[in-house]
Amino acid sequence: MPIQVACVLVHIEADGDQPTPASREALGEGRRIASTSGATLYAMIAVAGSGGDPRRPTRAETLPPYAAQAAAGATHAALVEAVGAGGADKIVFVNVDGDTRPALWATVGPALAAACQHLRPVLVLLPASAGSDDIGARLAARLGAAYVHQPVIEQGPRGEVVLSRPVYGGGWRRRLSLDDPDRAVVVALAPGRRPARGSDEAEVLLLDVRAERDPRVSLVDATAAEGAPLARARVIVTGGGGVTAASWPLLVELAAALGGEVGATRALCQRGVAPAAREIGVGAQRVAPHLYVVCGASGSAAHLGAVSAEAEIVAIDRDADAPILKRASYGVVGRIEDVVPRMLAALRPGAPS
Ligand SMILES: Cc1cc2nc3c(=O)[nH]c(=O)nc-3n(C[C@H](O)[C@H](O)[C@H](O)COP(=O)(O)OP(=O)(O)OC[C@H]3O[C@@H](n4cnc5c(N)ncnc54)[C@H](O)[C@@H]3O)c2cc1C
Repeated sequence: MPIQVACVLVHIEADGDQPTPASREALGEGRRIASTSGATLYAMIAVAGSGGDPRRPTRAETLPPYAAQAAAGATHAALVEAVGAGGADKIVFVNVDGDTRPALWATVGPALAAACQHLRPVLVLLPASAGSDDIGARLAARLGAAYVHQPVIEQGPRGEVVLSRPVYGGGWRRRLSLDDPDRAVVVALAPGRRPARGSDEAEVLLLDVRAERDPRVSLVDATAAEGAPLARARVIVTGGGGVTAASWPLLVELAAALGGEVGATRALCQRGVAPAAREIGVGAQRVAPHLYVVCGASGSAAHLGAVSAEAEIVAIDRDADAPILKRASYGVVGRIEDVVPRMLAALRPGAPS
């Protein structure tokens, strides 16, 4: 008999009056799981507000009357519409004292924990964002739940949800089944999920609790992002330890010619050639491009473990025995300095095809 998942909760990060693209993907994943397991899909949104009445406990009876819920829905009408269209059955707003961005445990964690204590979800899905690990690990600890970072999500033989991910450098897979309705699981999703289409008729709830952000943490500065977020890029040109300060501009040019973004391995970032914000790997960012061009990177598990299995890999390496050439769909044995200029010439408008 399939294990009953009564409630799936998705944390929605909003950008103005719209969910972020990663939140739409998380909603899509939540919709698919909720539909196959017969669960209700809740979307929780932390909004900057004054906080609720501090004397009120976090209990079901504290839900304010319909008028307050309707007011919350009207204030955030565009967001409600988008989240409903993305697949949510119910949308839960939680007021937070202070700003909700960037989404970190210090800003939205208490609101998310309050929503979980109230709704008791079996599965909590966090969108693929910079703060999802920070939120997910702490939320799981608070709830006594399991935490799984960027798993593959499948259906098991009994209809149960099965989460699996590579461990120990990619040589093993750890599997976790959602077969205990009393044991919640918090999941930080990998980028590259499909959004879904909902009914546009989500019910709006307002959870009237006092969710204070951690006063010890304040936003001091934000680094200007160079290029678009890697998690969303469909084409990435990545440089590794074989790239030099002189050849890096060739990769930047190739990425622009392909309409993509540049990435880098740790070896290149540590030498200061590529910015740290561009590092791809299990200790950095995960990516899910369609096309992944790798120049001068050997193909370590720590790097490739963060590249989606669906990516088409084109590798350029001067060493014919480099492991990356075994993983690549297309491999070129040669020096970056020779191969990339020829690729650029071939990509120029008017070049013979
Ligand atoms: C806990 C932990 C976490 C880690 N996390 C990450 C992570 O998140 N991301 C990450 O990248 N690494 C990470 N690492 C490091 C990782 O293990 C590797 O050391 C790193 O990925 C190697 O980078 P590379 O392949 O670019 O360099 P190398 O292994 O040095 O490979 C360089 C390649 O370039 C080729 N080459 C050299 N010159 C040229 C040229 N002129 N033209 C063509 N080819 C050339 C060489 O033949 C070689 O194949 C982590 C390590 C640990 C221990």
